[in-house]
Amino acid sequence: MDDKGNTLIKAKPRPGVKGINRVLVTGGAGFVGSHLIDFLMKRGDHVMCLDNFFTGSRDNIAHHIGNPRFEVIRHDVVEPILLECDQVYHLACPASPVHYKFNPVKTIKTNVIGTLNMLGLAKRVKARFLLTSTSEVYGDPLQHPQTEEYWGNVNPIGERSCYDEGKRCAETLAFDYYREHGLEIRVARIFNTYGPRMALDDGRVVSNFVKQAIENTPMTIYGDGSQTRSFQYVSDLVAGLVALMDGEHTGPINIGNPGEFTMKELADKVREVVNPDATTVFKENTSDDPGRRKPDISKAKKLLNWEPKVPLIEGLKLMEPDFRKRLSGGDEPAAK
Ligand code: NAD
Ligand code: UDP
Ligand code: UDP
Repeated sequence: MDDKGNTLIKAKPRPGVKGINRVLVTGGAGFVGSHLIDFLMKRGDHVMCLDNFFTGSRDNIAHHIGNPRFEVIRHDVVEPILLECDQVYHLACPASPVHYKFNPVKTIKTNVIGTLNMLGLAKRVKARFLLTSTSEVYGDPLQHPQTEEYWGNVNPIGERSCYDEGKRCAETLAFDYYREHGLEIRVARIFNTYGPRMALDDGRVVSNFVKQAIENTPMTIYGDGSQTRSFQYVSDLVAGLVALMDGEHTGPINIGNPGEFTMKELADKVREVVNPDATTVFKENTSDDPGRRKPDISKAKKLLNWEPKVPLIEGLKLMEPDFRKRLSGGDEPAAK
């Protein structure tokens, strides 16, 4: 027990780390970062959450404030910083197309200069470094499902390029620190993830549909709704990221749920869980929207002994109460 009465689960020791694990989570106040922090806090790590609060929220991490094993650092990864830690989970970067297109030059700086700074930090303190890359590195894929060997089909000058080319460069930097400096790196390629605490204005499809169905406004399908995505529940992602970080494989490794749905099918699922009367409306699609997405997760299964456990319908049921609560009263997101 600590002095706040929290039960401490001893951190799983990893080679080269003596005693408790000191973990830096950049982007820790965001959707994925805050769920990752919950996991790390629960197992007894010391956690530094570094965030500039562009898309993240203090509400997501408020339940850890005051715990002596937890610190919040308001900082922008584009600027250098000196910190001591054993592991760096580098998540800082807006993930929703609406947010990353808002200030594209800043998105590139975050992905390139921000990742460079965090790699420099990891090199200085000899920490293990995990990059949260993305299925977007495959662009509008010509291979289906996507394996890690596929090099992608990405437009270098399009509206999404600040994000997908930014992440591709971040991967390059990570591998160059690995080859040139011997830094221990891990690269996760994450496929669309959803769950409680997604920002209400996030703009991604699952949060948009759930919010619209709760508010009884039409679910906005962009294009003809035949494009596909594979949706992963956030607890599955956290388990995959931790398995990758604590394991012995560099990656890149796809972390996603291979279940593949068209946007019309997703609308049907949301209707089934949230509101049977929810309607849909078709809107013009955004440019360079990938036509389909589905991870090949053979590598994660074999090397990490990981696979997703939560089917879409169950994940939507877990997400709905948090959205209802925040939409009705502006309450902070649920702690779990
Ligand atoms: P999010 O927008 O909720 O979280 C990103 C966090 O990073 C926010 O707290 C934001 O304030 C912070 N941030 C942004 N720019 C920063 C900067 N310059 N300095 C410091 N902090 C900064 O997004 P998320 O869904 O939690 O995604 C987390 C990571 O996972 C991102 O790197 C994203 O690219 C990656 N990823 C997510 C998904 C997904 O579906 N959620 C898919 C693929 C990859
Ligand atoms: N850096 C940082 N924190 C550290 C160490 C480095 O922010 O603890 C930054 C540093 O300012 C530089 C980047 O990381 O911009 C890369 O550092 P590295 O030492 O690899 O390269 P160099 O400084 O030699 O260019
Ligand atoms: N989309 C949609 N309605 C929305 C938001 C998004 O139909 O309200 C579509 C979007 O055009 C894309 C898919 O849903 O084809 C996934 O978009 P999202 O922004 O969630 O993620 P990403 O494009 O990064 O995979």
